Amino acid sequence: MTTQAKGIGDIVQGIRDSSYELDTESRLARVGLKDEQDIASVLEKYAWLYNQATVQRAREASEREADPAEKNRLRRAYYFLLDGYVSRKTAEQEDRVVSFEMGATVEVDGETIPFHNVRALLAREPDFERRDRLRDATLEVAEQTNPDRAEIVGRRLDTLTSEFGYSSYTRYNGEKKGVDYNLLLGRLEDFLSRTQETYVRLMSRWAEEKTGRALGTLGSNHFAYISRVPEYDAYFTKGRLADVYARTLRGMGLDIRRQTNIHLDTEDRPKKNPRACCFAPDPPGEVHLIIKPLGGLDDYAAFFHEAGHAQHYGNVDPSLPYLDRAIGTSYALTEIYSFLLQFLTVNRSWLRDVVGVPEDIADEVVYYTKLSEFFLVRRYVAKLRYELAFYEHPADHERNRALYAAALQDATRFIYPPTNYLNDMDSGYYSADYLRAWITEAMLRHHLESAYGEAWYNAPEAGAFLRELWAAGESHENEEIARMIGHEPFDASCLADQFLSLAQAPT
Ligand SMILES: [Zn+2]
Repeated sequence: MTTQAKGIGDIVQGIRDSSYELDTESRLARVGLKDEQDIASVLEKYAWLYNQATVQRAREASEREADPAEKNRLRRAYYFLLDGYVSRKTAEQEDRVVSFEMGATVEVDGETIPFHNVRALLAREPDFERRDRLRDATLEVAEQTNPDRAEIVGRRLDTLTSEFGYSSYTRYNGEKKGVDYNLLLGRLEDFLSRTQETYVRLMSRWAEEKTGRALGTLGSNHFAYISRVPEYDAYFTKGRLADVYARTLRGMGLDIRRQTNIHLDTEDRPKKNPRACCFAPDPPGEVHLIIKPLGGLDDYAAFFHEAGHAQHYGNVDPSLPYLDRAIGTSYALTEIYSFLLQFLTVNRSWLRDVVGVPEDIADEVVYYTKLSEFFLVRRYVAKLRYELAFYEHPADHERNRALYAAALQDATRFIYPPTNYLNDMDSGYYSADYLRAWITEAMLRHHLESAYGEAWYNAPEAGAFLRELWAAGESHENEEIARMIGHEPFDASCLADQFLSLAQAPT
């Protein structure tokens, strides 16, 4: 069949079929049911869809469309196809990086360690110098992937500029996601200065307690160890997680036994990646919530994060058009809901009444969980600042290495290796998607707590309100949720307040 024969109906069906296959391919590899992930082959199978002519056809269809809702749907379809087309062009290098890292090992103290295990080891390694040796060993692997990563960035930019006429990467993403990145960064720079003194004071204390060294002299490789609080793990048992989940949702008026569309995969397979994740190949009909339960505070937080995605996609109104159910322009919307459920771990009454953590311990859990998150948000602001600067001169590698290390250190006070200037960067300003979600989630949580109290998760009205938001699928943008609850988009003051309140904490 030639591409000329394809109308917009066929194109939307192609998006639906290929998304289903792409999502399923990633899920099977992730849960250990398939040895290798082969995204490139799926993209090649749909070469008729992810090509320049089809992408242009979708753009024209959206430009021609008079109905605003349909125009918006087609607009999202266009960006989805364009991103798929760009992925096809970079798939070879992407696969090479993934395979290389999967097979890479590092030598530390005469021991051979898989590259991908170093992260988990760093969090548990009590020996300060060994944590440095572990990190130093990973830098050689990172450096070897830099040429491919640079090529991926170059190809992506070249496709967008030479074939589609976008003057810059920032402009492309800003148009696609409806974000004024300079405005967003401006608000977040204010957030950084407003919270600076509190952050430095509290993080200095924590870093010194855990390492005996001063903040400012520590590499970023020590943060995972500093922020791990294994003393609370006993309250977050592996065996009770399912019950805590069921009870939490019951409070919101949702019965997980009746959610037959959300498949809970808790099976322990040898190749299953232990990190919780969610796949929604066809929302709301087929959603997978996956975990390899280990127990512990981190495990609960990760599970509830993914459960937030699963509830969002699982509660989408099935009568909406496919593009409203499944195709968004960014992750900034769904991450609001994942953060909302994840941050039950900073809700004192939930910790006490649902998990069964004693009152004084709950205060400590809240304090340290928030302080870790404080670091993460500041780190992401720095990433955004760096990425915006990066795309002004993407080929000037010496400049970008220096900018990366400086921006990250300035915001977090941890020292970052310039080598990671490419591997610590996701495409499409994902950093900004997360930041937008952090901002709007803080507003939404504030809204729910003001309307229904600290135990909002136990109010059926709060549950009904969330289900209404979830029903809309991908048809809203993150900032519309902010407006809906009476806030100005990109206003980071709710987010700042929750971290500034740490200064008054008794701990
Ligand atoms: Zn997420």
